[in-house]
Amino acid sequence: MDASLSKRHLEFQAEVRAFLKEKLTPEIKARSRRQTSMAAEPELGMWWHRTLFEKGWIAPAWPAEYGGTGWDVVERHIFEEECALARAPLMFLGGLQLCGPVLMQFGTSEQKAHFLPRILSGEHYWCQGFSEPGSGSDLSSLKTRAIRDGDAYVVNGSKIWTTHAHNANWIFMLVRTSTEGRQQAGITFLLSPLDAPGISIRPIISMSGEHEVNQVFFDDLRVPVSNRIGDENAGWSIAKYLLEFERGGSYAASARAFLDEARETANLRDEFDEECLWDDPSFRRRYAEIDIRVTAQSWTEKRVVASLAAGQRIGDTMASILKVHGSEVQQLAGELAMYALGVLGIPDQRQALAPGSNTAAIGPEFAVRATAQYLNDRARSIYGGSNEVQRNIIARSVIKS
Ligand SMILES: Cc1cc2nc3c(=O)[nH]c(=O)nc-3n(C[C@H](O)[C@H](O)[C@H](O)COP(=O)(O)OP(=O)(O)OC[C@H]3O[C@@H](n4cnc5c(N)ncnc54)[C@H](O)[C@@H]3O)c2cc1C
Repeated sequence: MDASLSKRHLEFQAEVRAFLKEKLTPEIKARSRRQTSMAAEPELGMWWHRTLFEKGWIAPAWPAEYGGTGWDVVERHIFEEECALARAPLMFLGGLQLCGPVLMQFGTSEQKAHFLPRILSGEHYWCQGFSEPGSGSDLSSLKTRAIRDGDAYVVNGSKIWTTHAHNANWIFMLVRTSTEGRQQAGITFLLSPLDAPGISIRPIISMSGEHEVNQVFFDDLRVPVSNRIGDENAGWSIAKYLLEFERGGSYAASARAFLDEARETANLRDEFDEECLWDDPSFRRRYAEIDIRVTAQSWTEKRVVASLAAGQRIGDTMASILKVHGSEVQQLAGELAMYALGVLGIPDQRQALAPGSNTAAIGPEFAVRATAQYLNDRARSIYGGSNEVQRNIIARSVIKS
């Protein structure tokens, strides 16, 4: 594999860097550095969405015919990596990364014409209604029931851990339309606006004290049949297609950013004795161990990019490998950054962290979000399918081959 960048790609990288430098002002960067989890506060995330939309760069992974950038996979990887390294706000990608590709693959021409431009512009903000109380890893056991009534489905049940449902205006969901045969065979994929009568959203406050996830309830919600993706009872294969997009992607660049923070913090000298943690060989050894794993992840991601460029699909097993190792290195790098903070990781800084807060931070800027981020990072190995379940997928493919 040749991972060196061609002249054209180096020019593209320079163009991306110049754009990021212009748009990510110190004020935006400061807000962005306070992100504690998978997505920025909605106002900041939507500002970045609109900025990229105006530039024509909002959908690098989409085919040009649907409004994508037309970039090749190397350009897409460069863009993703540069955004992560520059600490661009993380957008919530329910529409762009998950629902959009499903619509392109399985939607009717009317559905594509209606929904895709609204995902691009940010008018529709999508959340994902898959998991239910009792149906997470064993997703195909889901029980939310949809019964056909004329030209609509009547939906009753509940979804849980629905990230950003309180910010979103649309939900894509899996519902049960049949209880006969294998449980996978009775699932249908539906779309609904979140302000439809019959939907209520209850917040779930996470251990970091933040509101990101929710439980969503459906009480005789009517979903027009025209909002069904694919055939009735064909939702399972659509869900599997979608999960490949959720598990692939880039992890190394954000792990690298956490690792940089650990190094920066460890180099801060104590004002009394002039000592710093970086002088401690055992800390540097731990840093080096994680650095090696982040580098390995980065090369694995580059290998995937190279095979995508050669026209291959990412596939279930590779998506699972990327997810398991990627989430682990992100957690390890975040843990090291937290460790480097020492006692400065202890204060409860939730007030200082709130958007628009004028409460002063205690310690270096990174310390404000460190604890919240550390706590939120625990979820990286759970969402998108837990790492144990991903290991089962990897093991099955090894046993098969
Ligand atoms: C922060 C966060 C955000 C989320 N956002 C969304 C969202 O937006 N939309 C959505 O639909 N879902 C979302 N989820 C749900 C997520 O996909 C599920 O939590 C996940 O699939 C695990 O399901 P569960 O929580 O029911 O745990 P369970 O399935 O009950 O698993 C409990 C434990 O058992 C282990 N386990 C289960 N089965 C096996 C097995 N076969 N082999 C080995 N170990 C196993 C698991 O790894 C886990 O450790 C989110 C979750 C979190 C934490």
